[in-house]
Amino acid sequence: MRNVDIRSIPYATDETLSVLELLNDRSTTSAEPSDIATVARAALSLGRNEAMRWRGFNLTVELQRAGMEVRHVKSSPSGGGSPVRLAALTVFGKSPGKERYVDLFLDEIARKQEALATCGIEMSLDELVEIHLAHEFYHFVEFSHNRRTEEMVPEVRMRGRWAARHHRLKHAGEVGAHAFAKEWTGSALHPILLDVIVQMTWSRPMRDDFEGRVRRAWEILGM
Ligand SMILES: [Zn+2]
Repeated sequence: MRNVDIRSIPYATDETLSVLELLNDRSTTSAEPSDIATVARAALSLGRNEAMRWRGFNLTVELQRAGMEVRHVKSSPSGGGSPVRLAALTVFGKSPGKERYVDLFLDEIARKQEALATCGIEMSLDELVEIHLAHEFYHFVEFSHNRRTEEMVPEVRMRGRWAARHHRLKHAGEVGAHAFAKEWTGSALHPILLDVIVQMTWSRPMRDDFEGRVRRAWEILGM
């Protein structure tokens, strides 16, 4: 594990990090930049607003009441050689009686906690579990109300040979879930930033990659 000086990481607002998340969708290379910015802002506010609605609720209790099992699992399924493994997961079987659960993989969350601690970011395991639970809770709300974020935000217009097409950005749900988790837990750091810092401690190329992507996000936001 490497020690990362977090002061050297480019400053990125929640908006910038939301664009960054959307850029994980390869179709964004041909999408109208101003539309990507619109989707990022829309999904960000959906996540924040949903968090306001659930303020003061015990999310575990709410999940259980809705028939979801919340499982604290000791070890994460291995990630096929990738340094990043799954930290949490929601399964929402469509018909009632189907499997419905949220898994929180404690070893992976503890690994993140350890990585953050090497950079001077002290967070308890409970705090990190809470952030992941809140993220998954947002997905549960999406699934259970059949209100997928990607369908609630505008489509993006495509450029070039895809010009006639409109496209839905699949990662909009991730933007919403991260925004929900940050707002609901009151975390000072955006969950995407936490993950970026964690990954930087695990692999060096991540750093340059992050700077490049932040710059691209700034262009998209017209900064
Ligand atoms: Zn997610």
